[in-house]
Amino acid sequence: MPVLVVGGAGYIGSHAAHTLKRKGHEPIIYDNLSTGHAALAEGFELVVGDITDSAKLASVLQRVDAVMHFAAHAYVGESVVDPRKYFHNNVLGGVALLHAVLDSKVRKFIFSSTCAVYGMPAKLPITEDTPRMPVNPYGATKLAFEHALEAYGAAYGLRYVSFRYFNAAGADESGKVGEMHSPETHLIPSAFEAIHGERPALEIFGEDYPTPDGTCVRDYIHVNDLAEAHVLGLEYLDCGSSTAMNLGTGRGNSVREVISTIERITGREVPKHMGPRRAGDPAELVADPSRAEKLLKWKATRSLEQIVSTAWDWATRQVPQPPH
Ligand code: UDP
Repeated sequence: MPVLVVGGAGYIGSHAAHTLKRKGHEPIIYDNLSTGHAALAEGFELVVGDITDSAKLASVLQRVDAVMHFAAHAYVGESVVDPRKYFHNNVLGGVALLHAVLDSKVRKFIFSSTCAVYGMPAKLPITEDTPRMPVNPYGATKLAFEHALEAYGAAYGLRYVSFRYFNAAGADESGKVGEMHSPETHLIPSAFEAIHGERPALEIFGEDYPTPDGTCVRDYIHVNDLAEAHVLGLEYLDCGSSTAMNLGTGRGNSVREVISTIERITGREVPKHMGPRRAGDPAELVADPSRAEKLLKWKATRSLEQIVSTAWDWATRQVPQPPH
């Protein structure tokens, strides 16, 4: 099926494009390259355009049967200091994209949402029925878009899946695409930067949480497990329903466990020091992925070790080699 991968030159979007191609679909990447990288779109048709450019979208939407939307700003901290940027791109821009879709023949839409829509849930693991009460502007913008999808789905027959990701990590096994953020804030690539001397040390954000070792617990899911769920999501939309689904493994790992896995897999020590808690970090976030497992006949199969080893392989390819 021809699929428009909006934001396909970014981290998760580029993995979705590769997975779509492997499964016999025909992805076209649409990206304004503001945070995406043309290098991550290599091997694909890349249309450089903004999600607010309805004329450009109209012409490319004629050539596809479904849209996957990954084009969003996704730094929680930045969303607190510059919420205008987040509401502008993630809500205004997102709704402009949605309107371009409604004005086309496309009625299948897959949205890249987040567990940040839940905020600080009282009960674990997190099911899709957990009240959505985001605690930062990033989560609020994703929730606003979910609301638009729900209303448009009911009113206009748009079929959608909102995938709520837990902690996406790892890289494609081919070594062709991986995480490329600037600045890097995520745990695993930040630890690699410390190993490579690109930052003095990894700061561990707090060790006084009510968790077994005092550090935060997250549900780390391999980006290709996420990507495979998106492809299955297209088939799910054929059955005529719309829904939201958590994408996680159902297992939690603490920051310390992740660091010790990194040290074991890479054989290198992570230079690190203890710091204070990061504002807005809940102690523990773990998915109940059973809805996606049931509806998509899908399961996250890659381990934390595979997440770390694929991410390490990718990161070491990105480090400039000294001249011979
Ligand atoms: N974390 C950390 N040091 C860092 C980056 C992250 O201790 O330099 C912790 C963070 O507090 C959280 C976990 O690692 O508990 C995952 O954070 P990340 O930023 O990777 O993803 P998020 O959960 O914010 O989406």
